[in-house]
Amino acid sequence: MKKELQEQQEKMFKLEENIHGFILKKEEFVDEIDGFARTFVHQKTGAKLVYISADDDNKVFSISFRTPSTDSTGVPHILEHSVLCGSKKYPVKEPFVELAKGSLNTFLNAMTYPDKTMYPIASTNAKDFMNLMDVYLDAVFYPNIYENPYTFLQEGWHYHIENADDPIIYNGVVYNEMKGAFSNPEELLQNKIFESLYPQSCYRFESGGDPDVIPELTYADFLGFHKKYYHPSNSYIYLYGDGEVRAHLKYLNDEYLSTFDKQPVDSEIAAQPMLTQRTEMRASYGVSKEEVLENKDYLALSVVLGDKLSYEDALAFDILAHILLNNNSSPLKEALLDLKIAEDVSYHYSSSLRQPYFSIVLKNTEEKHKDLFVSTVESVLNKLVADGLDPRSVEAGINIHEFSHIEGEYGSYPKGLIYGIEMMDDWLYGDDPIAYLKYKAAFKKFKDSWKDGYFEKLLKRMLIDNTHQTLVTIVPDNTLQEKADQALAEKLASFKAALTPEELQALIDETQTLIEKQNEEDKPEDLEKIPKLSLADINRTGRSYPLEVQEALETRLLFHSGFTGGISYLKLYFDYSDLPQEDLKYLSLMCKLLGSLSTETMDFRRLSQEIEIHTGGLSFGIESYDDVHHFGDFTSHCYVKGKAVMENIPTLVKIMTDVITKTLFTEKNLIHDMIREIKTHKETQFLTAGHVVGVQRLQSYYSQSARLFEEFGGIEFYRFIADLEANFEQKFEALTEKLTSIANLVFTNRKPIISITGTEEIRDRTVTALSPYVVGLAPNKAAKNAFTFETEIANEGFLTAAKIQYVSQGYNIRALGYEYAGSQLVLKGLLSMDYLWNRVRVQGGAYGAFMSIGRGGDLYFGSYRDPKLKKTFEAYQGVVDYINNLELSQRELEKYIIGTISSKDVPLSASVKGEIADNFYFSGVTAADLQKERDEILETTVAQLKSHGDMIAAVLAKNAICVLGSEEAINEEKELFKVTRYIK
Ligand SMILES: [Zn+2]
Repeated sequence: MKKELQEQQEKMFKLEENIHGFILKKEEFVDEIDGFARTFVHQKTGAKLVYISADDDNKVFSISFRTPSTDSTGVPHILEHSVLCGSKKYPVKEPFVELAKGSLNTFLNAMTYPDKTMYPIASTNAKDFMNLMDVYLDAVFYPNIYENPYTFLQEGWHYHIENADDPIIYNGVVYNEMKGAFSNPEELLQNKIFESLYPQSCYRFESGGDPDVIPELTYADFLGFHKKYYHPSNSYIYLYGDGEVRAHLKYLNDEYLSTFDKQPVDSEIAAQPMLTQRTEMRASYGVSKEEVLENKDYLALSVVLGDKLSYEDALAFDILAHILLNNNSSPLKEALLDLKIAEDVSYHYSSSLRQPYFSIVLKNTEEKHKDLFVSTVESVLNKLVADGLDPRSVEAGINIHEFSHIEGEYGSYPKGLIYGIEMMDDWLYGDDPIAYLKYKAAFKKFKDSWKDGYFEKLLKRMLIDNTHQTLVTIVPDNTLQEKADQALAEKLASFKAALTPEELQALIDETQTLIEKQNEEDKPEDLEKIPKLSLADINRTGRSYPLEVQEALETRLLFHSGFTGGISYLKLYFDYSDLPQEDLKYLSLMCKLLGSLSTETMDFRRLSQEIEIHTGGLSFGIESYDDVHHFGDFTSHCYVKGKAVMENIPTLVKIMTDVITKTLFTEKNLIHDMIREIKTHKETQFLTAGHVVGVQRLQSYYSQSARLFEEFGGIEFYRFIADLEANFEQKFEALTEKLTSIANLVFTNRKPIISITGTEEIRDRTVTALSPYVVGLAPNKAAKNAFTFETEIANEGFLTAAKIQYVSQGYNIRALGYEYAGSQLVLKGLLSMDYLWNRVRVQGGAYGAFMSIGRGGDLYFGSYRDPKLKKTFEAYQGVVDYINNLELSQRELEKYIIGTISSKDVPLSASVKGEIADNFYFSGVTAADLQKERDEILETTVAQLKSHGDMIAAVLAKNAICVLGSEEAINEEKELFKVTRYIK
């Protein structure tokens, strides 16, 4: 923050001054976030408010309520959804969706936590920011849930029956969402860990809702929860950015808070009394009938770390957990992997609870190993306290955490939002919210005292001397699902049988009315109440992505000039087109192993420490780019990237080049452990991110570049890894040879293309450091489309243990003779936020549904955690009619245009812009292309949108589909697929 600006801030108010009803309690400049933080209390209601004034136009607002659960009906979660379904000032079906369609928001969401519910928004446009804030405040204080009981039925749960002869089922958005969540064993494990650690506090309940318990929630209790907790006296308001403090406070007071009076709200999070000895808990999770049950158990050893941790303790523990368990060379993880009793060892740590907890989880293990698990943890920890932690690993842990705090890289999330979320860790339990932002003093303390046993003492206090422990086991059961389904069906059947004809008719009528209400259009005059910007508020030109194509060390240098706070972001792109096609999967595996194995110069433990001591991390992978000007062409690279502060650039480059040219692929145990880990991570992805896997697979039916990516990370890659894992002994020797020769071929043969983001000084220092490595290599060649695959529209249905589906369909429009245009992005917004939202989410009960279109021409539809299958395909077919019959007022059209532009204008850090600029460069996207796309978006007409109907019809006519989902659902619709199979 500039000095004048800071001085101006200092003089603005006096302590205890009343500014539009808010009393200023505390103010200070916070160096770490370069902002001026003020804490206020609203006099009339007791509402708490923090305002951080910073020189950042990405303004953030959030209002949160403390919402402890008293059961697992998920009432906080259902309410989070429901308040966004229409309010006093904005009486439309879903104001939230209207904002998502047509605002310049840079963040818009709502989140339910175990003890709070947060409603954050962000925008860089001052007018838009006020609009978003107003819709959210009206939503939380004046939702239409009291007048309209159908919101509860839709978002929560209801008895769904359309005809008297049908069976009654439960339906509801949150009900289905949580059914999806609970089909993931890790979600169930999490739930059981909470139940075991907090048997008497609110944390034992599932605030998201347990699908078995959700139907116990009554409408009256739902309303009661709102009445009790959604009151200013129980609220935490947060503002961040370059907005006008006085004007914002006046608005909050005059428009909302002043109409309320202080009310005592009992929302205290009661502390769970300490457990004096370890307790155990056991539960089962459902898997498909054919699933082999061996080695599918999970074991979790968890502790509660204390009550209301200080920031220093919370951060120090984060570092300690990292030292103990972060990677395969961390002492505790290594010892547990060496037992050979589990495929994966991971940990969870959350400080977002009054009593933070920590868990160590063994995945794919056997229950019988639980004593060995516990005794190993105990003996390793005791030994570490007695002998001391490896000093280098402590230094590494401190440095890597400090690096990420200084870097402050949160991807597309606004910085201010992250601050707002972090401060809740203290604020919600009555302490100083600003304390959780001041990391500098804590890091100084760690650096000053780690040599004096600081972390050993912490380890002893928080883990060894801690009796508040539990051991949770969850085991697979392949009849559980069937039994549960049957029990539910019977329960609902007997419920139905006991109904009088009048009662039954009432339920049918209720279902009917709900469907009618969902199909009802909002009144245009109501829609107009939702404030919206006009096209005149939108910049005609978009932002630029700095790129200068230069030459250095006789190779291409992509330089992205930008302010990075002294950090060099380096990425090297290697051509791998000399590789035999059958070796592609090995290339991908190699990228996943690099950085974790020993090199000729360093043992793997030492290597991982050196990386964390001197750099901000290294990563390795493969990327491909469809050429936007030549359909069917694509380039692909194997990349290596890393980052470091200026003085560490030479070390960064040294470590990086050592890793790629001197890694030894000979460590059998380590490689075996890592392969197992890769396999289990993929398996989790099939259950939790099936839409990503399904769409990728779908595209591989018709796109060469997508087919290539199946080799690198899709189902093909998974099968390769699963086979390696199962036959590791026989295959290891050949594997070593293969990986060694691939690394030689890719990294010691040709010069890479270099990409650097930073200042010119950073660039020059980085190039100098690279020189010894790059100079001796042969020129690069960057061949296009080096590989060819046989492809066919395979239309597969993949049977998984999930209780829901991921349904995808699509094709490439350029292959069908259509061209990509900006107006298709507006269509994407329209379909995703209107038609698909209504048909697949609101009516179908899926958690999400979307259409997507890329510059390369890939157009697809997908659904997420979807209880339906065939009906979703019917919804996709319905898109054509929807487009053909489309009627859209100018106002509505502008909304979708603004919403589309907003996704293009999300503020990004210099490093992210650098990565995107590389991507554009390799895909042939020019500044003129970007401007053309932006013009096309801004000039989109209804006629243009309607003209895309033919294109969608042509895509759907190709009938290319792929589904991942529950065995029952896929088998029921077998005729839709060419093949149905398990993933393995
Ligand atoms: Zn939800």
